[in-house]
Order: sequence, then C-alpha cells, then structure tokens
Amino acid sequence: MTSSLPQPVDAGLVPRFAGLSTFMRLPAVSNFADVDIALIGVPWDGGTTNRAGARHGPREIRNMSSLMRKVHHVSRIAPYDLLRVGDVGDAPVNPIDLLDSLRQIEHFYSAVHRAGAIPISAGGDHLVTLPIFRAIAKHRPIGMIHFDAHSDTNDTYFGHNPYTHGTPFRRAIEEGLLDPKRTVQIGIRGSVYSADDLDFARDAGVRIIEMEEFTALGVAGTIAEARRVAGTGPAYVSFDVDALDPSFAPGTGTPEIGGITTREAQQMIRGLRGLHLIGADVVEVSPPFDPTGGTALVGATMMFELLCVIAEAQAQYRTIASERRTVVTD
Ligand code: MN
Ligand code: MN
Repeated sequence: MTSSLPQPVDAGLVPRFAGLSTFMRLPAVSNFADVDIALIGVPWDGGTTNRAGARHGPREIRNMSSLMRKVHHVSRIAPYDLLRVGDVGDAPVNPIDLLDSLRQIEHFYSAVHRAGAIPISAGGDHLVTLPIFRAIAKHRPIGMIHFDAHSDTNDTYFGHNPYTHGTPFRRAIEEGLLDPKRTVQIGIRGSVYSADDLDFARDAGVRIIEMEEFTALGVAGTIAEARRVAGTGPAYVSFDVDALDPSFAPGTGTPEIGGITTREAQQMIRGLRGLHLIGADVVEVSPPFDPTGGTALVGATMMFELLCVIAEAQAQYRTIASERRTVVTD
C-alpha cells in the first residue's frame, strides 16, 4: 500500500545536498488532485510593517527541510506512508501590489481546496494567512491554534490601511472566517501600542494565553486548554516563528524576548494529535535576519511536526469519510 505513495528522495541514494530543492525532498507536484496534503510556499512579505524579508522564507525553508527524515521519532508517525504528500510550489504573488497578491493567493488556495488537498504552508509574513482562510473557510468559520508573540488583531496601520501582518485575524473574525470562540493564541508578549490592544480579541471571545500564563500553566496545561478551546470542529494551526524566543529563532521581523523554546513548541504541536486539523502554516521566517539558517531549520522542523499530526488526523478522517460513503452507496 505504501509503495504507491510519493516518498522523499532516498538520502541513502542521493545525498541531502544534491538535487532539486523541494519541501522535505518530496516530489514537485503540479496537479493538486494528486496529493492529500499540499506543501506550499508563499514568498510574500508585502504586509510587513517594519523589517521585511519573509518573502525569502519558503526557499530557505525548502533548503533546510532537506534535513528532515521520514518518521517522527516520538510519535512514530510516518506521514508519507499515510497519505499522498507533495510540494505544489509557491502561490503566485505580486511584490508591488498588496491587494493583487491577496487575490492571487486566495485564488491559488481555492484551487487547492477544491481539489480536496489540505494545505501546509511556509510564509511569507502573517498576512498570508488571511487569503488562505478566504479560500478554505469560506463556507463556515474555523477554529485556530495560534502560536505567536503577537495577537495580530490590530485594526489599521499608517492611517487607515486594514491589511498588514498585524491585522489578519481581526479581518478574519470580521469576515466570518475565524470563530473567535474556538481560537486560542499562545505566547503573546511584548510591549503594545496601547493598553487596550488585546481588547478586540478578548471581547470577541479569543482565548489569549500570554507568556506569563503559559509559564504558569506549563506545556501540558497549555495543550489541555488549546484542545478545550479548539474542540472537535475543523481547526487550523498558525505558527508565527516569533512565538519562539529570539535565541532560538532570531531570523524574523518582529522578535520579542522572553518567548517559547523550540522544545516546548514541539511538545505543544505533538499535543494536538487527534484534533480535526484542516491546515497549517509557519510564517515570518526572514532569511535576511537569519545568517546561520537556524531559523529556517526551525521553520522546516515545525512544518514536519505539523505534517505528522495533520497526516495522522486526516488519514483517520478520510478513512471514516470513505467508510461512510461506502455505507451510503451500499
Ligand atoms: Mn504573527
Ligand atoms: Mn508575531
């Protein structure tokens, strides 16, 4: 059964530094219907308000993802033996036109969604999650487990501009794409513009776990709370690499000290096993601020962690769905 599924290039035959660079060394796939999980790059940082560079994220994450192997060492999940996973390339973007980029990204993800593929993406700045939601959450609001130093629920920047990487989840809630009552934000910290910065999100019902509460709850307590909030409905995982302490992930545009460790983040993603996950992204990896490539390695590893829990969940859901279909057609 497993032999027919796409597999990464065998590192025992072709060394990791050789060959075309794709996510996890998987086949490059042009037909979305040929995969169950689509790995996608969004090389765009037109929503960045200060230190740009995340447009270069996908290429470097692809590069460092050549270090990933096939089986998760803790859960023993082997994602490529469960489902068809491939690199479907980058969403089209326009580096000098924000609204055109949002349209093009949404259009691309709509096609992925129509084909029945689950997207796991590498940004790009955090605004890219909004057009992804417009594509995959059009018909019902979804829940979200959101790792970030920032809530990204500000209203406008530079006068009245509604679209920046500091606003995507306010727009997503306003547009009915994101269910705030099934949304949890983990790792929030850092100085704010004003004391009421988080009021919109809190008033809408978002569960905000600031860094101080994360420290008090611990990893296990935070996982339990995230699972409670997300519930059993469809949920998305958005991982802003600045959720991590800058000592682990300095290559990002808006670093905030006092953050989560890579090990804690890995444990939390593993703690999401069994949730009804319908997509994920890793955003804000900014190679110009990442001279060692260490932050791109973090991004690639978090993508693999997410891929494992999502592949397991999707394999279960797809089995249940096909059994139901069998019953109906019988
Ligand atoms: Mn963010
Ligand atoms: Mn952030």
